[in-house]
Amino acid sequence: MTSVLAIAEHRRGELRDVSDELISAGRELADDLSGELHIAVISGQVEEFARTLSREGVDVVHTVAAGSEFNHDIYVQAVERLTAELDPSVVLMPNSVNGLDYGPAVANRLDRPLVTDVVGASFEDGFVATREMYGSKVETTVEVDAERVTVMIRGGEWPGASGNGDTEIRETEIEIDESAVHTTVTGFEEVGGGDVDISDAEVLVSVGRGIEEEANIELIEELADALDATLSSSRPIVDNGWLPKNRQVGQSGKTVTPEVYIAIGISGAVQHVAGMKGSETIVAINTDPNAPIFDIADYGIVDDLFDVVPALIAEFE
Ligand SMILES: Cc1cc2nc3c(=O)[nH]c(=O)nc-3n(C[C@H](O)[C@H](O)[C@H](O)COP(=O)(O)OP(=O)(O)OC[C@H]3O[C@@H](n4cnc5c(N)ncnc54)[C@H](O)[C@@H]3O)c2cc1C
Repeated sequence: MTSVLAIAEHRRGELRDVSDELISAGRELADDLSGELHIAVISGQVEEFARTLSREGVDVVHTVAAGSEFNHDIYVQAVERLTAELDPSVVLMPNSVNGLDYGPAVANRLDRPLVTDVVGASFEDGFVATREMYGSKVETTVEVDAERVTVMIRGGEWPGASGNGDTEIRETEIEIDESAVHTTVTGFEEVGGGDVDISDAEVLVSVGRGIEEEANIELIEELADALDATLSSSRPIVDNGWLPKNRQVGQSGKTVTPEVYIAIGISGAVQHVAGMKGSETIVAINTDPNAPIFDIADYGIVDDLFDVVPALIAEFE
């Protein structure tokens, strides 16, 4: 009866938001197929994670207590065994750093087509996915001519499931073939240093090239402090070495979906917008009334950031 098997994502002891997004996407696909949604959580504190994943719309949560933290070989084996047991039409995985590590290997082992970086999905006569191309300038529709598929969804494209359910939690014993485990996780290091994950922030204050020079970033930091927000940026700020890479929003940075995104001195190039268009409320401050960021902003201030930001700090402090 299973039709969708989703693989939850966790990192350093915490479930990631994309796990709830996988539930929303998985439920939609399971409804298209009139089937069940199963979600599996592999390694780490699986019991605690399973309780959180017991959302409305989930039929079964599988716990696979193998390995203590993310491990490529264990994930590949676990997803392969679960798929053999449940025979889902869709194996749904996150298009995250972890997902991109094990997803293609899973598809290869299962001998199923793989559609990556999916932003929309449905089952009609077959599986149909929406993907973006050319820096999000073009949307493409992919129809897959196969009954069973593997799919990786982009974070921030589906709303996160939130309602608590009374889901069956099934402890799934999987015998891992240790001779096929060739990797060991020895630790975790955030690229670019720092322990901030901008994709988890509720309020982001984001700075762009309008800030002119590195010393002026302090002004934006003051605003972030006053708002209890997290500081992020466009790519030139990172390319200049003014902020670490883990602060970059966009196509080659992180995808973020905060409640509020304040874009300061950011023009709104497609590669930037690709990473923040899912924000709930967008506020833009820019001297150029024709800056593309105003096309997607909910609130816009056409003025000099060096006048506006100190006024906002004074207001919020
Ligand atoms: C393959 C590829 C991947 C890329 N990936 C990313 C990515 O992940 N993230 C990303 O951000 N970019 C990315 N880019 C770069 C992207 O194309 C833009 O160059 C970049 O987003 C521009 O950054 P910006 O808006 O800060 O700067 P600019 O485009 O230079 O805009 C600065 C803005 O500040 C305004 N301004 C100037 N002075 C003031 C002032 N005093 N007060 C208020 N406003 C002022 C200007 O009017 C202007 O609109 C990528 C490009 C490529 C080719």
